[in-house]
Order: sequence, then C-alpha cells, then structure tokens
Amino acid sequence: MPRQYDLQSALLPQGWARNVLVTVSDEGFISALDAGPTAPPSGAERVGGIVVPGMANAHSHAFQRAMAGNTEYRLSARDSFWTWRRAMYALANRIEAEDLQILAAQLFIEMLKSGYTTAAEFHYLHRRRDGAPYAGTNALWDAIGNAAGIAGIGLTFLPTLYQCSDFGGQPLRADQARFAMDTDAFLRAIEERHGMQRGGQIQRIGAAFHSLRAVPLDHLREAALALRSIDADMPVHIHVAEQVLEVKACQRETGRRPIELLLDSGLLTPHWCLIHATHATFEELKGLAAAAATVCLSISTEANLGDGLFDTARFLKAGGRLCIGSDSQSTVSPAEELRWLEYQQRLRKKRRAVLATHTESHVGTRLWRDAAQHGAQAIGQPAGTIEIGRRADWLVLDPAHPSLVGAAAGTALDHVLFAGADAAIRDVMVAGRWVIKDRHHAAEESVGPRFAALMNRFAAIE
Ligand SMILES: [Zn+2]
Repeated sequence: MPRQYDLQSALLPQGWARNVLVTVSDEGFISALDAGPTAPPSGAERVGGIVVPGMANAHSHAFQRAMAGNTEYRLSARDSFWTWRRAMYALANRIEAEDLQILAAQLFIEMLKSGYTTAAEFHYLHRRRDGAPYAGTNALWDAIGNAAGIAGIGLTFLPTLYQCSDFGGQPLRADQARFAMDTDAFLRAIEERHGMQRGGQIQRIGAAFHSLRAVPLDHLREAALALRSIDADMPVHIHVAEQVLEVKACQRETGRRPIELLLDSGLLTPHWCLIHATHATFEELKGLAAAAATVCLSISTEANLGDGLFDTARFLKAGGRLCIGSDSQSTVSPAEELRWLEYQQRLRKKRRAVLATHTESHVGTRLWRDAAQHGAQAIGQPAGTIEIGRRADWLVLDPAHPSLVGAAAGTALDHVLFAGADAAIRDVMVAGRWVIKDRHHAAEESVGPRFAALMNRFAAIE
C-alpha cells in the first residue's frame, strides 16, 4: 500500500515549502507530491519538523573506520599521506571478512545518523589475508552488502581495479597483495553482480579504478569500455591528483598531468566521478565541468592527510558538479565536509559567503542541495531531491532543538553547516522506511558491542 506523509516543512527543488503531501510507493519512490495548502487525508503520517534530502556519501573506505583517531601522532618530521598509507596497509592486511562486516555496519549506522542516506564504497580488498583469491563468492565483497542491509542505507558498491604499485606498470608490493585482480576476473565479477541486480533495490553495482598509478592506461581504457557495454549508466570512480608526487610521477611517465590524461582519453562521461582532483589546473577544472563528470571532495580526509586545497570557487563558477565523501572516516559528517568547503574559501579569500550565488544566497542551502543532487548522480542512485520519481530518502530536523530554535525560515541548512544543527537530525528515511527514529537505529544495540569488541581486539594487537 502506498503511504502518505504530511511534511510540515520541506526543501523541494524549487525551494522551501510548507505542508507538503508526499505519496510513497511500496518500492520507496515518491509517486505524488502536492505542495499546495490542502487538508491532508486522515491516513497521512504527520512529519513535524524540517525535511531535507538525504546526502550521498560518494566516497567511503569502510575498513578505515578502524583507523580513525589512531594515527594522529608524530613519527617523524616528514609525516605525510605516504607514511599514513603504511599504517593503512597494516590494517588492511589484518582484517577478516567478518571484521569488515562489523566495521561497515557500525559505520553505516553512523552515516545515517549524520545525514548520509546512501554510500559509495570504493572497495579494493579482494583477496584472503594470505593473498589467495576466494574460491566461490567473495566474502569481503559480501561483507559490505550485508552491512548495508543491516543498516538499511543505500549502497553503490564499487569493486576497484588495483594492479600496480606505481606508474610504469610497477608490480604490486607484498603489502598490496590483497588488492590484486586481473581485468578479466574484475569484469566477470561485476557482470555477474550486475546480472543479479533488480530495479527498485537500494543496492547497486558500479566500478572503480584505484588511480592512474595503480591501473595502466591501456588496461583502464579496455575495462572502462567493457563496463560501458555491461551498463551504459554504470558509475565509474577513480582517485586522481590527490598528491603532488603523483602528479609529478604521471608527468614524468606520460608527459601529461593525471586529469589531463583522463580528459584526453575521451572516456569521461557524467557517470564518472573523480575523487579529490586536488591538484588540478583551471584548464582541467573547466574540462571536468564540460564533461559533466562529478568531483568528490572529502575535505576532512584531504586536511587530515595534508593533501592540499581544491579550488572549489573556481570549479563551481565553471559549472562544475561537486559532491562529498567521508573517505578515510576521520569525520563522518556531511555538515562538516560542506562547512569546510566554504571555510576553506573564506580563509583563502578573506571574504564571507563565497559559495553563495545570485539565485541561492544561503550558503548552507546551496551547498547541501547541490551536493545531494550531484552526489546522487555520482553514485547512480535515484535520490538527492524530494520530487516525483525520486526515492524517498530524507532527514527530519527537529525545529525545537537548541541549534534551530528561533531560526528564520529558509535558514535550517545554514544552521546545519554553521551552527551545529546536524545534531538536530531526529529521523531518517531511506526508500520510504524510517531507519532512524528519535535518533535511534534498531540495530545499534546489536552492532555496537560487536564493534567495541573488535576495536578492543585490534588495540590489544598494537
Ligand atoms: Zn579514497
């Protein structure tokens, strides 16, 4: 039976509206929406509060949840992304499939509570701990899907091709052995999972290339074209230009910068999402905007790893499509990612409200609305806006929360980004199902203790 919801206040594509009647189908899609001031039918559920679209988390490595907060000390005067990566590999080589499921379930519940209603999992753990491939079904892949099922979060699963340790086809190192997969096995496994996919499901399959240093360009091209023949709309993600060293190595090897190389390949479409793109020239930013590909930033991770600053203002001005991700999980908060998109610009330009526009003067509304919409594009899920044909994925903010009381109409998302009102997220719906009600998730009592036991076990090994 379709259900009806009488929303007190909601952010629709055309702006803020009051008393919105929404009909949600059995499959969890919005089938009718009436923003007029009509009397709601008696069977409609009243949703008292401020309803905003759920956010897409376009870039996550679930296993790194176990590292958050554990690498914030000085090893040497030259600590960097590359020294952090050694600790990350040590963790990656310790995790069993059942550990991954617990970590991911805990993480996905945390994501829902903070406002992410879908996640793209960029997954490169493919083999057993001893480096051998799984004989039948891949338990590490299944762990992610199972965890998303426990949490009830939308998932775009991105098996990731990872074949080399550096440009020039350098072989993988011993501590990268679990990431190895040849192109044929990669494509077969994705095609098989794609064949099992049914319309209306909140989990779907995409694909990723770890980076240009990890996948030679000819392999990347061959696989990208094959993926397109499996599914012309398949989301394809890649880490790119995160580190200056990586840009320099790419130039040395190919004579081109990494984003230049991707633009020249002619492969980029609106289904591609470039992760980080930190060290991009203005020409490259314009090229990405023209290709209508998305760029996913995770400022919390980029700051944590000392990557550098992406030029958000220029990219948006060029018409670029930006979305966000929690990446290394040092922060799992869309509000924090978006806040720092703006703050980074304010610090650089010594001005305020840099990322507001003539048509949307509220920074919070602008950034949340656009990131939700472009995030949904990036991960290939029919979400991101509250309108007919989209999935009913939304958050309800409690207007009585101290962070929101007295807030002027239309400023709720400004409060979420700049006044701590992400703490006012009270209820969360995914595909027409309440997964968080009064800040509580039905599985948190079962997942929490298992997560705690796992973290204590990891701590004991340190
Ligand atoms: Zn990443």
